[in-house]
Amino acid sequence: MGDGKSMERERSTFQMTGIPVSPGVVLGPVMLFGDILDEVETLSIQPSQIDFEVKRFSDAVTLVKQELARDAERISGELGPSEADIFLVHSMILEDPKLVQTIEGRIRDELINAEAVVSSEMKRVSAVLRGSDDSYLRDRAYDVTDIGKRVIERMLGVWAHCPLTHPVIIVTRELRASDTVSMDRGRVLGFVTELGGRQAHAAILARSLGVPAVVGAHGIVDRIRSGDTLVVDGTTGEVLVNPSDELVRGFKQKQEQEALDWAELSPYLDATTQSADGTRIQLMANISTANESKEASALSADGVGLFRTEMPFIAAGLFLAEEEQYAIYRAAVEGMGGLPLTIRTLDIGGDKFVGRENPLLEHNPHLGYRSIRVSLDRPDTFIEQLRAILRAGADGDVRILLPMVSGVGELRAARELLEKAKRSLAADGVPFDADMKVGVMIEIPSAVMVADRLAAECDFLSIGTNDLVQYALAVDRGNTYVDHLYRPYDPAVLALIERTVAAGREAGKPVSVCGEMAGATEYIPLLLGLGVRELSVAMSRVLFARRAIAMTDIGEAETLASRAVAAVTASEVAELIGINQS
Ligand code: PEP
Ligand code: MG
Repeated sequence: MGDGKSMERERSTFQMTGIPVSPGVVLGPVMLFGDILDEVETLSIQPSQIDFEVKRFSDAVTLVKQELARDAERISGELGPSEADIFLVHSMILEDPKLVQTIEGRIRDELINAEAVVSSEMKRVSAVLRGSDDSYLRDRAYDVTDIGKRVIERMLGVWAHCPLTHPVIIVTRELRASDTVSMDRGRVLGFVTELGGRQAHAAILARSLGVPAVVGAHGIVDRIRSGDTLVVDGTTGEVLVNPSDELVRGFKQKQEQEALDWAELSPYLDATTQSADGTRIQLMANISTANESKEASALSADGVGLFRTEMPFIAAGLFLAEEEQYAIYRAAVEGMGGLPLTIRTLDIGGDKFVGRENPLLEHNPHLGYRSIRVSLDRPDTFIEQLRAILRAGADGDVRILLPMVSGVGELRAARELLEKAKRSLAADGVPFDADMKVGVMIEIPSAVMVADRLAAECDFLSIGTNDLVQYALAVDRGNTYVDHLYRPYDPAVLALIERTVAAGREAGKPVSVCGEMAGATEYIPLLLGLGVRELSVAMSRVLFARRAIAMTDIGEAETLASRAVAAVTASEVAELIGINQS
């Protein structure tokens, strides 16, 4: 970004292979998206702009202080006042008159933009603290940079420092769900990260947006710079940096092939979803914004099997009130044109956070304060969401889906709050769907083991393979270093799916699969062979899935699935279904 020093360096040409997480090939300029403190541009301002810059800074500080107060109140209520100390420390940093005066003074004296001053001042203070003999002060160095980043993000918006004029390929150490959720598709051609795994939510969002992406490209951040040219192949994991003309020609051929592949899918655009032998399969779509519901109907999907409602919360950076939620769910219902819409209650925690990343600093957030546990722990927030969903149900076929249920106790507790929400709506005289169907996500092995009992007390089950694989195999779904061990085709995982399907069948309750496995064409015959008749897939996978289903004969799939479940190792299954093991 106009960095004179970097212009002198030779542009190096090299190639590396990471983990492909979102298919498609793309060529474009790099935007290195690193530590926001190092990234902000230093811009000269006119004396007439001083007041404006100072106000931008003070507005951002006010906003961050409000957020901190809200976080402190929430955490204090949930975990006790001492756990909220960190927010008070952050607030105190921002209330330090000396720091504020220094920043404002430097904007005036040096005539540079506010974020550049915040960045340099926070780095300076942090360096002083890091050098201190006092361990308490040394620990505060991190808080100072953290709060500096937060203020800058409020001034810029996370993506605001991407150029508006031309789209770029983002290269960064790690993308969080919150970064991806606010990603502007028009400005981002693709992304490459050093960390992350196939099923991290950032990767899932990239797939649903159709943005090619590669993770696990170790060391790339130090080897490239903004403005380099990159080819990213999200199908193979290849990343070419400043490629030769010949490699660019190869890239163009791949792109042409891709266009042909898409053209081949057009017959599946408005076809009924059925297997080669004519078995009707319900093919639904996964969405994370209300707008996408229209796309689901345009692709002739049978409905939405999973609306990840945490995404609008993450995009807004705060917990949305009932009315705001109702407006979103209502808009989604409208886009469905009468087709079923499955709204999942909040699934935050793990790798999805509203506001601050990992606010409780948990060591194992996927095993921690996440999902239905948060909802049950915050009944008022949960009831607000339940009321909004129930109200949206007055205008269409809406279902509720409860995430990360580990056993019947949680289902019962959630249902009690649902009844409470219904009673309050009835008392308020607000229309709602009193008979709304309630489903349970099966994504924890314990839920599989009691799937019969869960099925007896709910209306449908939905298998979340993204988490089920992670919890069954003890492999973090977002960790590059164990990504090769993340194997949905492991016979243990297949047995869990088989058991869940059997439980649903015996109870007469439908069972769908809404994890990413459902949209991966190599696994579709296995799932159909295991008895699954309902799949909910990322929007960009709907046509691929419909074609894969049309090419599958259920009888053959059943033989394949029984051999796979009986296999001794995951490698045997890989061979059976003809995939290369990563
Ligand atoms: C899953 O775990 O498979 C799932 C669909 O939920 P999420 O990916 O949002 O955790
Ligand atoms: Mg899940």
